[in-house]
Amino acid sequence: MSAFSADIKQLAGAAPVRQGSYPCLILNADYQPLSYFPLSLWSWQDAVKAVFLDRVNVIDHYEQYVRSPNIEIQIPSVVALKDYVPQNRSPAFTRFNLFLRDGFKCAYCGSPNELTFDHVIPRRLGGETSWTNIVAACSSCNLKKGGRLPREARMHPNLKPMQPSMHELQSQGRRFPPNYLHESWLDFLYWDVELKP
Ligand SMILES: [Zn+2]
Repeated sequence: MSAFSADIKQLAGAAPVRQGSYPCLILNADYQPLSYFPLSLWSWQDAVKAVFLDRVNVIDHYEQYVRSPNIEIQIPSVVALKDYVPQNRSPAFTRFNLFLRDGFKCAYCGSPNELTFDHVIPRRLGGETSWTNIVAACSSCNLKKGGRLPREARMHPNLKPMQPSMHELQSQGRRFPPNYLHESWLDFLYWDVELKP
């Protein structure tokens, strides 16, 4: 093991701070968060490692330091990747992303409560489980619609189900900010977010 990686290991083990504290916001090389939702965060150990490996620029830090016998480093709170990670991938078809696309609301009545999923064209008629045929629906609308087509049930979703782009999901994500935000992250996040105590 090189002296270098031994130092990293010691630093990570030295932890004057609780494991899992001091998350670090990860920006892409263009200083946009790598992801808004979930917000791209690393543990301080990973952030410190990336600093030593010269993969990131430190933009801001916490007050606290970690120390090993040879090294002292202020814990980074925001880092930017040196290499740009392309963002044109398409989002995964997950329950969470689907709710996010639909704004955590029922596509029929707008209720945010007891959300489930509805096949717009019912499965028994060959409706697929896909971005273009699933919408978020509250359990009472889901029950009411049952296995019927929108025109049979006279219930039409208020959005045309489509595969969202990563960009669309990310801008939806801005409306649902995470619970913990360090002050130093705010310069890199959305304008409308407020720091919670
Ligand atoms: Zn509903």
